Amino acid sequence: MAIEFSARVARLPDYPVAGGYSLPEHVALLASNESPDPPLPEVVEAITRALARANRYPDPSAWDLRRALSDRYEVPANHIAIGNGSCDILLAAGEALLEPGAEVVYAWPSFSVYPHLAAAAGARAIEVPLRDDHYHDLDAMGREITAATRLVLVCNPNNPTSTALPLDEIADFVASVPKHVAVIVDEAYCEFNTLQDPDESLDLLRRHANLVLLRTFSKIHGLCGLRVGYGLCGAEAFVSATDQVRQPFYCNSAAQAGAIEALKHSDAVAQKVERNIVARVTVESGLQDLGIEPAESQANFCWFDLPGGAESEDDIVAGLQERAVLVRAGKALGRPGALRVTYGTPQENDRFLAALGELLDTP
Ligand code: PMP
Repeated sequence: MAIEFSARVARLPDYPVAGGYSLPEHVALLASNESPDPPLPEVVEAITRALARANRYPDPSAWDLRRALSDRYEVPANHIAIGNGSCDILLAAGEALLEPGAEVVYAWPSFSVYPHLAAAAGARAIEVPLRDDHYHDLDAMGREITAATRLVLVCNPNNPTSTALPLDEIADFVASVPKHVAVIVDEAYCEFNTLQDPDESLDLLRRHANLVLLRTFSKIHGLCGLRVGYGLCGAEAFVSATDQVRQPFYCNSAAQAGAIEALKHSDAVAQKVERNIVARVTVESGLQDLGIEPAESQANFCWFDLPGGAESEDDIVAGLQERAVLVRAGKALGRPGALRVTYGTPQENDRFLAALGELLDTP
């Protein structure tokens, strides 16, 4: 007889994982919004040093990392949540805040993990369609907040659409949410956003105890393989509650050491931001040359509707893969007929544009 699993397992959607894990070296991996750059040598050294002590458990409080983040962002260390990637903090937030009868409000399409939160807790997900220009419709989201709402998620810049709302709109929205409702502004890509400096949203934390700014070492620091993310919180309560629902050792020693070292290299971050801007301009203008108008990207990836619509999606994705370019199909992300393409190295971006041009049969 087969094992009987809980109803929760049947409710949970599958996370749409990208391929690419066993593809040959030369394939351009533009499907998962990763950094094309390997970690800095100093970061690799710090990780290696930590591995030599892998017979010891990691510091469950991740104290040194919290201190380093506290110094960097001027947020009290006890207001900083750490996680096994920022996904871990999202899932913990769902567990700590949601239950049957409760509601979570977020935009759609947005980050693929958000639907897991309600499904895991037996709560209700209120998915608010993005505006036609691919931005969050904050007015519509505000209208969906009810007495049952426990959590509101705002992804800025938004994955998968790459768009970012200006900070004053985010600030007005956060101010309009009742104080007992948690608001997570997911800023996984904030360092790439040229509309605002990553430090600018920090001020909101001093005004809103119910706010969490969720960030990660996966994107700008290129450490997604290590799994380390953090939440800068308006109050300690979010940190304690999300710690309570998780196993004690949720962030491994190598991840803690690598993240601490990565924080010391702000010059490298600035260079990556610069390179990302160049990639953004190159890819945007290359797409425009093909007659495609991508959404206005403030992230390390672009998002656009295919001229041939949903029917052409499978062929284009397969054709790109035949040309050694792996991208993300919109179908898996909530908008059939769209593509999400991460910016890679200059050569990878050129290869993507040439391959797409060939497939669209444009000279
Ligand atoms: N938020 C958003 C918007 C993301 O796109 C991602 C990763 N794709 C995450 C959070 C999670 O990142 P990680 O768990 O690697 O920190």
